[in-house]
Amino acid sequence: VFAHVVRAPEDPILGVTVAYNKDPSPVKLNLGVGAYRTEEGKPLVLNVVRKAEQQLVNDVSRVKEYLPIVGLAEFNKLSAKLILGADSPAIQENRVTTVQCLSGTGSLRVGGEFLARHYHERTIYIPLPTWGNHTKVFTLAGLSVKTYRYYDPASRGLNFQGLLEDLGSAPSGAIVLLHACAHNPTGVDPTLEQWEQIRQLIRSKALLPFFDSAYQGFASGSLDADAQPVRLFAADGGECLIAQSYAKNMGLYGERVGALSIVCKTADVASRVESQLKLVIRPMYSNPPIHGASIVATILRDRDLYNEWTIELKAMADRIISMRQQLFDALRARGTPGDWSHIIKQIGMFTFTGLNAEQVAFMTKEYHIYMTFDGRISMAGLSSRTVPHLTDAIHAAVTH
Ligand code: PMP
Repeated sequence: VFAHVVRAPEDPILGVTVAYNKDPSPVKLNLGVGAYRTEEGKPLVLNVVRKAEQQLVNDVSRVKEYLPIVGLAEFNKLSAKLILGADSPAIQENRVTTVQCLSGTGSLRVGGEFLARHYHERTIYIPLPTWGNHTKVFTLAGLSVKTYRYYDPASRGLNFQGLLEDLGSAPSGAIVLLHACAHNPTGVDPTLEQWEQIRQLIRSKALLPFFDSAYQGFASGSLDADAQPVRLFAADGGECLIAQSYAKNMGLYGERVGALSIVCKTADVASRVESQLKLVIRPMYSNPPIHGASIVATILRDRDLYNEWTIELKAMADRIISMRQQLFDALRARGTPGDWSHIIKQIGMFTFTGLNAEQVAFMTKEYHIYMTFDGRISMAGLSSRTVPHLTDAIHAAVTH
């Protein structure tokens, strides 16, 4: 009965790793997937995560019962505080409902399904380009996806004028997906002044902001600095949605731990919204897993562990920033044609190199370097040891 099923294409991002794994070359390099690697090219479990896990293991009173539909209450509270700030009026006024979801992706999906059921406008505007999964997540959630201009290939920076024009002509009430910081795949973020202009436009048109916060702390190394755009919107008293992921900033990728917060106008509305979120979640996966959320809660509630986390997080962010500098310096020293200053200007895990699909294919074939076809490289996958190999490959790709 399944003989007619045709083979689906590999996921454009995760498929890069599939191809990488099949390559027997000893010099192969995976710059596709957005996961942090150490200078030795190894995955990293944060010390603070190991400590928290040890505490959890040692606590024999812990059981494996189901969590409630909305997840671990303490985790939810601490997650809202992390993104909105400890002194957030919205939290103090109980206007925020937070539900634990399956990492960033699950938070986006639950938020999308809630909006499709209970919000009057079905169109969501996503930046062009954006993380490849956004379109599929929101379409399957029942929303209609449109794009707004974001990236300017000529300047390799923000197309701010285009962004304002496109959001300015969006229908009143439309949903707008915003990357809270460290835009994926471009590494290009608005300045705080530009964020303020975006906020004014969004509020004046009664658009609904939906923040995707997958990299808090990863952009600048500071959790508070990276949360500024979200806090700017929360401070004006208006509504917004926030999808948080702990995949990158706590290195909890496979634990699938994240949160969806919806900032409402009143506590009463927030509590009714939460009751409906439960109806979205219950038939989808019933309730979320307990382990990852317990790790996060253990770290966020304890001052010492929290401080230790911020230090380890900053070290990851700093290593990425240093990789940017090293790659830029190497390309300049090599005399590779082109202006590569965007490598050090862009923010977060990725550099949008400007290399085209043909050049990417060349680098994969000749140099065993794996990356997405849009020319995005994960700076976290690079090390001092591999910078020369990547430099050779880029040089050859742009001059051959
Ligand atoms: N949003 C963006 C912009 C991302 O880059 C990612 C991870 N690549 C996610 C959401 C979701 O990640 P996860 O589901 O692993 O938290």
